Amino acid sequence: MKLSVIGCGYLGAVHAAAMAELGHEVVGVDVDPVKIEQLRAGRAPFFEPGLPEVLASAGASGRLRFTTELADAADAVVHFVAVGTPQSRDGNAADLRYVDAAIDGLLPLLKDGDLVVGKSTVPVGTARRLAERIAAGGSGARLAWNPEFLREGFAVKDTIEPDRLVYGVDDERDAAVLDEVYATAIAAGTPRIVTDFATAELVKVAANAFLATKISFINAMAEIAEATGADVTRLADAIGHDARIGRRFLNAGVGFGGGCLPKDIRAFTARAEELGRGESVAFLKEVDAINLRRRRRVVELAQEALGGAVFGRKVAVLGVTFKPHSDDVRDSPALDVAVQLKGLGADVVVTDPEGIDNARARHPQLLYSNATDEALRHADLVVLVTEWPEYTGLDPAHVKEIARGSTVIDGRNALDAAAWKAAGWRYVGMGRN
Ligand code: NAD
Repeated sequence: MKLSVIGCGYLGAVHAAAMAELGHEVVGVDVDPVKIEQLRAGRAPFFEPGLPEVLASAGASGRLRFTTELADAADAVVHFVAVGTPQSRDGNAADLRYVDAAIDGLLPLLKDGDLVVGKSTVPVGTARRLAERIAAGGSGARLAWNPEFLREGFAVKDTIEPDRLVYGVDDERDAAVLDEVYATAIAAGTPRIVTDFATAELVKVAANAFLATKISFINAMAEIAEATGADVTRLADAIGHDARIGRRFLNAGVGFGGGCLPKDIRAFTARAEELGRGESVAFLKEVDAINLRRRRRVVELAQEALGGAVFGRKVAVLGVTFKPHSDDVRDSPALDVAVQLKGLGADVVVTDPEGIDNARARHPQLLYSNATDEALRHADLVVLVTEWPEYTGLDPAHVKEIARGSTVIDGRNALDAAAWKAAGWRYVGMGRN
């Protein structure tokens, strides 16, 4: 099939490459000429495991093109909209200007029978509004909403082998078009839920709200553990054995971040308030507050570890991305912690396998080092905030030799506490006492 993908960021670039890999003829469109230049050269504009390989193989097949010209999408029959929906500058609501611009740009190109497929995460009600706009254009094209559940770090696999497909459609015929797009996944038995626009839009934000709640739940338990001497990791192991609860996403630590969870729960709250149902998701404000408190908690622990004398002390911050296996620092708890410590006067040195360029672009005031040992050398305090295997696998005896201090703060409860203690470290976890 001839497909276009409008917006080639973390979602769209992977989607475009994966769809071409699956045999479709794809044109990826983005307004960012630098990104398009890189994609044209077969280079991934961000770090995503497996993306360079699919870009290379799809590129070699001749089925994948990238352009800044939306007009080049005119031949496609299915147009995926994968532009950003960030938090608005003046509040919690999603900023829909990029989605609106993408639809406005597509309108004059649409032909009878074309299907516009929204993949961006949007407030419930957006698809209906956009469908009306497309209908008013008189082209005969229609809209479907097909939320995306990929996880950064596993985006290629998640796109090629999704765990479920959700189609929000007005007309069963549109589901048949999407079945053709996703023929490989459908043939592999991927569950598929065909529903209305509102449900499809809500599925995505409900899933993110649930995951955020699960993380903040265990972080709330960490706060109680800190006040009582309990160990939240043992607690999580114990309640996680209950299949109704499950152990996944139950790791206490510095909390969630990234380009999705924080802004999605805020946008959900804002939309629910517009609908007069603010009370129904008021708990998400608590989820957000617990989450942000954990970042401050790491900073407090660092102050305590330094005996209150933070100014001029060297703090090695291990990890800056919002999670491992990504270069994404959007709303990263790790970056937030580094910035707060710097604000208190610490000489913060941040290291990360993939996130330094993005972090430096946002916070040039921090010191960065690509070499873990350099970041650790003479550090008065070591703070792990992103659980990259490079850091969870560090040899505590080696770190002890090069660092000056002897306290490690494990902001992800990801280190082997016993091994660090055995090497002479004072180990400080989150909610572990
Ligand atoms: P991103 O910022 O990485 O990418 C968005 C891209 O859209 C940018 O490259 C931008 O230049 C481009 N763009 C903006 N306006 C455009 C226009 N009019 N025409 C063409 N391109 C345009 O964002 P992302 O992380 O890829 O997220 C995109 C959407 O997908 C968001 O709604 C997000 O919530 C959702 N989502 C993201 C993920 C994820 O893991 N990143 C997962 C599921 C859903």
